[in-house]
Amino acid sequence: AKAAGRNNYQFFDRSMSANASERLALQTSLHQAIAQQQFVLHYQPQIETGSGRLVGVEVLVRWQHPERGLVPPNKFIPIAEESDLIIRLGEWILQEACRQLSLWHAGGLELRVAVNLSARQLRSKNLLRQVKDVVLKHNLQPGQLELEITESVAMEDADNTLRMLAQLRELGVELAIDDFGTGYSSLSHLKLMPLHRLKIDRSFVKDIETDPDDAAICAATISLAHNLGLSVVAEGVETEAQFAFLGNLGCECAQGFLFSKPLPAAELEAWIRARGQ
Ligand code: C2E
Ligand code: CA
Ligand code: CA
Ligand code: CA
Repeated sequence: AKAAGRNNYQFFDRSMSANASERLALQTSLHQAIAQQQFVLHYQPQIETGSGRLVGVEVLVRWQHPERGLVPPNKFIPIAEESDLIIRLGEWILQEACRQLSLWHAGGLELRVAVNLSARQLRSKNLLRQVKDVVLKHNLQPGQLELEITESVAMEDADNTLRMLAQLRELGVELAIDDFGTGYSSLSHLKLMPLHRLKIDRSFVKDIETDPDDAAICAATISLAHNLGLSVVAEGVETEAQFAFLGNLGCECAQGFLFSKPLPAAELEAWIRARGQ
């Protein structure tokens, strides 16, 4: 069954974007998947450049499809985003991530957990209640839960976003702007947002050592962030050289395949033990 799942997955991957009936089928099975909780969370380490210590993880959802195998988020998040499915899926992700966070915390592992929010979630009236409930239920301390919002989503409807971010901030969660540099930031809006972190998109990290433009963009982003009192996470760090380069620019944190791909919770724990942290 496993091999068949893998084959289907490949077929599914290639035909997906072109095929409208496939999309419809997927939408139907997404409804079932939410009811049957066919999703799993993977966690990707975020490493402090100065100390090499693990300081946080980003939560990345996968769909464990009974026939298709493990489906990546790019294939179903956009479809879930077209309806209120994303609200229910988003709530499950938030609950599950915080349940895991409180288990780790109880086991003595100090970590920050970052959860991605989609556009529709950010506009949803339910979001504040969801976050409030989860913070209370798991007795989370400020700074343990971080919410990531992409730059383009944050700037789309800046006044509303600003209001929502302020209320989320009051609940004690931290806020990060994701994929920074790929949207169109208004610096006057950025200045007003109660943020903790900027995440540099991996497109700027990829050629940072060889492309002076990318290096300049990363340096400028880090300096802008620091001047606004924000910390920086670089994503898509795949080499020691990129990690060192970013560290020298003053980037606080790095995330990428150099350290680990996103892992299921148990594998992340094994990874941490193997590292001796
Ligand atoms: P993102 O938030 O920008 O997440 C980072 C993506 O980069 C992840 O892909 C991760 O596996 C990948 N990545 C990490 N390190 C490296 C690296 O060194 N090199 C390369 N080439 N890639 C790296 P993934 O897990 O497939 O997620 C894709 C996107 O799906 C995410 O982009 C995010 O926009 C969305 N997504 C994932 N999980 C969730 C979720 O729980 N909620 C929502 N709303 N969106 C999610
Ligand atoms: Ca993200
Ligand atoms: Ca990102
Ligand atoms: Ca990205």
